[in-house]
Amino acid sequence: MARYTGPVCRLCRREGIKLYLKGDRCYSDKCPLVRRPYAPGQHGQVKRKLSEYGLQLREKQKAKRIYGVLERQFRNYFEKAERMKGVTGENLLILLERRLDNVVYRLGFASSRAQARQLVRHGHFTVNGRKVDIPSYLVRPGDKIAVKDKSRELPLFKELAAAAAVHTPPAWLKVDPEKMEGEVLALPTRDQIDVPVQEHLIVELYSK
Ligand code: SF4
Repeated sequence: MARYTGPVCRLCRREGIKLYLKGDRCYSDKCPLVRRPYAPGQHGQVKRKLSEYGLQLREKQKAKRIYGVLERQFRNYFEKAERMKGVTGENLLILLERRLDNVVYRLGFASSRAQARQLVRHGHFTVNGRKVDIPSYLVRPGDKIAVKDKSRELPLFKELAAAAAVHTPPAWLKVDPEKMEGEVLALPTRDQIDVPVQEHLIVELYSK
């Protein structure tokens, strides 16, 4: 599946909030949003009042950018969320949270979703003992996610294990940083998903 390969800090500046797309840099004073807290481009500093459509569009773009998903795939998630029982907007966010790259990031085994996606793509993770190299793989309650035995010896994973040891995952996940393993305890609920997205605006946009 295709992915966005352009400059990511522009995306944060466009949305006007930190989307945490670059790992450690996002927490440092090198973050461009701190130094230039306005939209990119020639007219970035001009304040404009957004229309109703504009607000809805921005929420959708924000969610896509946080999870690193492009339009077609995002639309597919929305259609799937609509077919599920419950509130469509919440279902949409739960589906996005269940992506394997997001779960690897949430467990603390990567410093950003983009890094998690690359590590999954390169086959460093197993789910229930079997190699899974599909970032969009949807985890289920009871799934055990682990770093492959061979990969644990790599210097990168030694660093990531140290970072995971001081990381607190959300309540729906359990992590064992020493074994480099995690488990999905349950599906997340909306209050356990700390993304700054008003999902009802996305539902309104797609329901037009
Ligand atoms: Fe966004 Fe991180 Fe870049 Fe800051 S450093 S603008 S939070 S991606």
